Amino acid sequence: MTIKRLLKSLLNVNKIKINNCEFNTLTQELYIYASLTKGQRNRCPICHRKCKGYDTITPERKWRSLDFGPVKVFIVLEVHRVVCKEHGILSEDVPFAYHRSNFTKEFERQVAYFALHLTKADVCEIMRINWRTVGDILKREKDRIEPDSSVRCKNLRAIGIDETSYKKGHKYLTVIVNHDNNEVIWCHKGHGKEVLEKFFSSLDKEDLKSIKLVSADGARWIKDVCNSYLDDYDFCIDRYHVTEWCIETLEELRKEVWRNIKDNEVKRSVGRPKKGEEVTKAKYFQKPSKYALGKNPENLTDYQKETLILIEREHPKLYRGYLLKESLRNVFDSDDPDKALKDWIFWASHSKLEPFKELSKKIRRHKEAILATCKYKLSNARIEATNNKIKVLIRKAYGFRNIENLISLIMISCSNLINEIRLPYKDRLIIT
Ligand SMILES: [Zn+2]
Repeated sequence: MTIKRLLKSLLNVNKIKINNCEFNTLTQELYIYASLTKGQRNRCPICHRKCKGYDTITPERKWRSLDFGPVKVFIVLEVHRVVCKEHGILSEDVPFAYHRSNFTKEFERQVAYFALHLTKADVCEIMRINWRTVGDILKREKDRIEPDSSVRCKNLRAIGIDETSYKKGHKYLTVIVNHDNNEVIWCHKGHGKEVLEKFFSSLDKEDLKSIKLVSADGARWIKDVCNSYLDDYDFCIDRYHVTEWCIETLEELRKEVWRNIKDNEVKRSVGRPKKGEEVTKAKYFQKPSKYALGKNPENLTDYQKETLILIEREHPKLYRGYLLKESLRNVFDSDDPDKALKDWIFWASHSKLEPFKELSKKIRRHKEAILATCKYKLSNARIEATNNKIKVLIRKAYGFRNIENLISLIMISCSNLINEIRLPYKDRLIIT
């Protein structure tokens, strides 16, 4: 095997001719100078058709390829621009890289795979690239495997609408999930009526007809938009939104009780308590009690269980709030949710706890949606898992150049696409 053929096999590229090599011992970089074969020249990078040349200036460009051990490898090529009838004036197609990329296809696939499975720091360290460029690579990979994401919106039955914030709560993403397979089917920058309308107007009549179930938080405008696009469907409320309302209400109550304790507390000087002096009971009222009250009972730690027993003994009012929260959670698993919800509303509105009285009004307003959720048994755990996954991805994507790259990351990770991005050695060409 000649050296040139060996290099071609290592780079895994066809349709180029290797002319020369240069190794920089100082920077440990290998430059492979090549040119396109005749048949490959003057092709459009998008449709790959033969085109007319646009200019004769042929500046050298370099593409980063996968490293040879610790050595960075670059392919250097002279390319010029072509005029495609459909796509206009563009830099000509090279067989080993995507349009507008400075990396070879294999390099990008490796980066994409690592970005999905390793941490941010690991990817940058192993591949020796900037995290900013990883976002662009992910977007290109997503577009390669799935150029048109509207295929995900076919034959939907049950969908979930959610809004997630990114950039420290300043900006929002609207995410739509298919409940049947938990795939993110649509993701768009921004939130509110206009964004949701964009989603529904991108669907055709058949697709709109097939949607029978929509779940969301209780926002009225979501229901309004759904009503204007869908005919025969049920509106559900995601269970974790209801639980969230409940936890917020309980937190309000806890703060109220906490304020009372503080007001009645005897002011004492700083330092260790004196002999016989009673230590303030406010201690377990700070953070630990917040978690003890908010968590599901099956997940409580021993310490939190003890805190709950203390609360039951000394703050019956707050404990009543806790029981209300738990029993609302149980409504969703009840055999007769209609009766259970009715009972709950009655209990809450007569509980003499102001925050829960308010909550009972809200629950009454959303009664229909809650009962629909119970009827269709929408799995709370799976919806919440997807939501948490998106939050983790948002944190990971911090530093990407633009929001489209974050959306690509979500679209890949929350679907089957994640299995299609494979390490490059799995699909090597046979170079002859
Ligand atoms: Zn073209």
